[in-house]
Amino acid sequence: MRLLIAMMKHETNTFSPVPTPLARFGPSFGKSGPGPLYGEAAIRAFRGTGSGLGAYLDIAEREKAEIVLPIAAGAPPSRPVDDAAFEHIASQICDAVAQGGFDGIMLDLHGAMVTESFEDGEGELLRRIRALDAKTPIAVAYDMHANLYEAMIANATVVSGYRTYPHVDTYDTAKRAGDLLIRAIRGEVRPMMAWGNVPMLPHVMRQGTGDHPNRELQERCAVMAREGALAASLFTGFPHADIANAGLSAVVVTDGDRDLAERLRDELLDRAWVEREAFVYKVEPLTEALARARAMPAPAAGEGPIVLLDHYDNCASGGTMDTTIVLGEILKSGLDNVAAFAVYDPEAVSQAIAAGIGAQVTLSVGGKLKMPQIPGDSPPLDISGTVKTIASGRFRNKGPMGRGVLTDMGPSVVIDTGKVEIALISSHVEPSDLNCFYSLGIDPLQKRYVMLKSRVHWRAGLGAMAKAVVDLAGIGACTSDYSSLTFNKVRRPIYPLDLPNR
Ligand SMILES: [Zn+2]
Repeated sequence: MRLLIAMMKHETNTFSPVPTPLARFGPSFGKSGPGPLYGEAAIRAFRGTGSGLGAYLDIAEREKAEIVLPIAAGAPPSRPVDDAAFEHIASQICDAVAQGGFDGIMLDLHGAMVTESFEDGEGELLRRIRALDAKTPIAVAYDMHANLYEAMIANATVVSGYRTYPHVDTYDTAKRAGDLLIRAIRGEVRPMMAWGNVPMLPHVMRQGTGDHPNRELQERCAVMAREGALAASLFTGFPHADIANAGLSAVVVTDGDRDLAERLRDELLDRAWVEREAFVYKVEPLTEALARARAMPAPAAGEGPIVLLDHYDNCASGGTMDTTIVLGEILKSGLDNVAAFAVYDPEAVSQAIAAGIGAQVTLSVGGKLKMPQIPGDSPPLDISGTVKTIASGRFRNKGPMGRGVLTDMGPSVVIDTGKVEIALISSHVEPSDLNCFYSLGIDPLQKRYVMLKSRVHWRAGLGAMAKAVVDLAGIGACTSDYSSLTFNKVRRPIYPLDLPNR
């Protein structure tokens, strides 16, 4: 057996100012750079990891298949992908397809990639593959934030999506898709798919699968696999994308049974539509939320910290990770025993490194990347303190998300103001893993407060430790105030932008 395996992942925030050149792509979806991996280097990087590619490689090795892995390219969310970057990644995959002789193609994609020229980067890739090779079965694993288009389904054989958010089932999802593909190659099943969408933009802060209603919706998907579906997936979608098909969708794969696939698809879409109000998020004003956090009793022995979420500026949703409104208010408010992760500012990191450990410094941090599509202003913030830590910023994830995968925050420092320990990093990394802190010499469990530039993924590695969570509305390219965004291309009307109960 000969299998083609590849990864192309980007979640595009069309409101983000953060550029997406080829150099932003790397072997990991969770970090930027230093460029994709190819061939053997990609296989070495992903073999044995809890990632989608890790699952495909395990399947290929189990089947004693010959593996061709032309490229593994993932980048943290940012503005639409440069055409040159997309053309490079797509052509690496298509050139391999054109060699021919494959029994199956297994793709680890995201599903919300927008390029300068295409609203559905994945659909365009699959169209090109099918134009070269009309027959070889294709398995695709998509992220729960996929915004589905017809070409993303019609040009694949089997599709499966994540059932968890935080995404701790990237491996399981690719395993499901890959195993189905092997069965299809052997002629044991004849997959057929039905997909559809409903006009709703579930709020990302309301999409976590620990919470109603997505918990129940995803559980239903899992049960459908025991009721005759080969795979059932509900995609909550990525709303920070002004494209026609942004929003919630579903796809069901059955063994040649179109009626069943359509019936189960409709059931998922109907259930989600009924729950649309539960997917709406209500913003609490920053000063009120901060006052509430200040009034909370300090954690008792054995309790973890109070988590303060700077959720408008999550780099894993297109945020610049350098807005300073929330951090500035925390400093002003006098909160004590705080760790803040993190401000992206390579320049300030260099200055702190030059000053050296123990030096007293005053740095102007953040506010460097302008956000033309986001109302409000995020000026740089002056911070004064001691350089506590200088680190390489490299670690392997403890998990459960991307266990074993190398994360690289770039050169990183911690500035201790006396009350707040502020991490400054040189590469966009969302704090979804405890090692973000441990690698910088901070024990978050010893803190009264931990500020995180994150929305939901922090829960993967740090959720269990939180005594309480307070959402802090700041400023950023993944603003939770959708009414501040200008949508021109998304299909209308769409809930909650246009429809009742906004
Ligand atoms: Zn996602």
